Amino acid sequence: MKVGVLGCMAERLKSQFLEEEKIVDLVVGPDAYKDLPNLLQEVEEGREAINVILSKEETYGDISPVRLMSNGITALVSITRGCDNMCTFCVVPFTRGRERSREPQSILKEIQDLWNKGFKEITLLGQNVDSYLWYGGGLKKDFINASEIQKATAVNFDQLLEMVAVTFPKMRIRFSTSNPQDMHESVLHVIAKYPNICNHIHLPVQSGSNRILAAMNRLHSREEYLALIDKINTIIPGCSITQDMIAGFPTETEEDHKDTLDLMESVKYSFGYMYAYSERPGTLAGRKMEDDVPEETKLRRLQEIVDLQRKHSAIRTQEYLGQTLEVLIEKESKKSDKDWSGRNSQNITVVFPKEDYKIGDFVNVEILNCTSGTLIGKAIGYSEMQTK
Ligand code: SF4
Repeated sequence: MKVGVLGCMAERLKSQFLEEEKIVDLVVGPDAYKDLPNLLQEVEEGREAINVILSKEETYGDISPVRLMSNGITALVSITRGCDNMCTFCVVPFTRGRERSREPQSILKEIQDLWNKGFKEITLLGQNVDSYLWYGGGLKKDFINASEIQKATAVNFDQLLEMVAVTFPKMRIRFSTSNPQDMHESVLHVIAKYPNICNHIHLPVQSGSNRILAAMNRLHSREEYLALIDKINTIIPGCSITQDMIAGFPTETEEDHKDTLDLMESVKYSFGYMYAYSERPGTLAGRKMEDDVPEETKLRRLQEIVDLQRKHSAIRTQEYLGQTLEVLIEKESKKSDKDWSGRNSQNITVVFPKEDYKIGDFVNVEILNCTSGTLIGKAIGYSEMQTK
């Protein structure tokens, strides 16, 4: 048996796998799958096989993923690969390469296939979806050299999102992840216009301090971020906003940390993914910045961020009490086999008695109770997405 490792961490771990631990025969980067027959041949001939070169064109456009562990209802659809931003803490530009977008028709084809198989919700996925740009292939940064025809027929993220919403009016559409400096007002109008595009935006900020944002090479300020939040709240009232936050980035002071808590107070996010900073080898922060915030300080600050988020999540879920929400049923509730679990448009979990409904149904649920992360209610009938 030959053992190989394929994926975006292959570059970083290749010497450990091949030389130190001698546990694999083959190490393949994420974009080298088409080279597998040659690499296997090399292994057969007794050589180690490595190909960790990141492609400038590969978008996996013609690959239909095998959806292991799928619930048959919700699916992720990749629209871009890589990232051109160089946030100093992030390993993605090194492991996944430069940003390139997938051809719109292949995206529509994959969604059509999912629809035919009974899927009801898709999430358009990329490191920075708002930066999506198809002009016939190639790197985003090379668009300046594209021909006039390519420029005139290019498809950006607003257009792709609208195309998907119009082509599949009964499919629920989400997207992730948005990068603040690339999200423009025009996409907010598309979200507001189409009822099948969910009212949820995951908008990582990482820190509330302008000094730390600059050290992270985030290409937006705290003020620009808050201005975008205001636009979202104005154009899509009731839209939920979620965050990513890093506590204890190099040089972070108590003042910087307070700026983060203060920004969270202003936004009152529905949910967040929060981490204590940990150095990633090969990144700019890993090479050039000393990881100088003591571990116990990082963990204390993280706990303060988590506690505040919990408080805000509770405030956000309480806002739904007494409302009727459209929910897509995804699975049985973990706590009771008599209840269904699904999510509303704002990506909040809703639990309610099963009655005669089934997985994949869109139902209207009246919200009667809540915890900080879950809404509890009772179904009052099918929603428009089901009956229209
Ligand atoms: S954090 Fe996001 S935007 Fe920044 S480099 Fe990483 S993937 Fe790109």
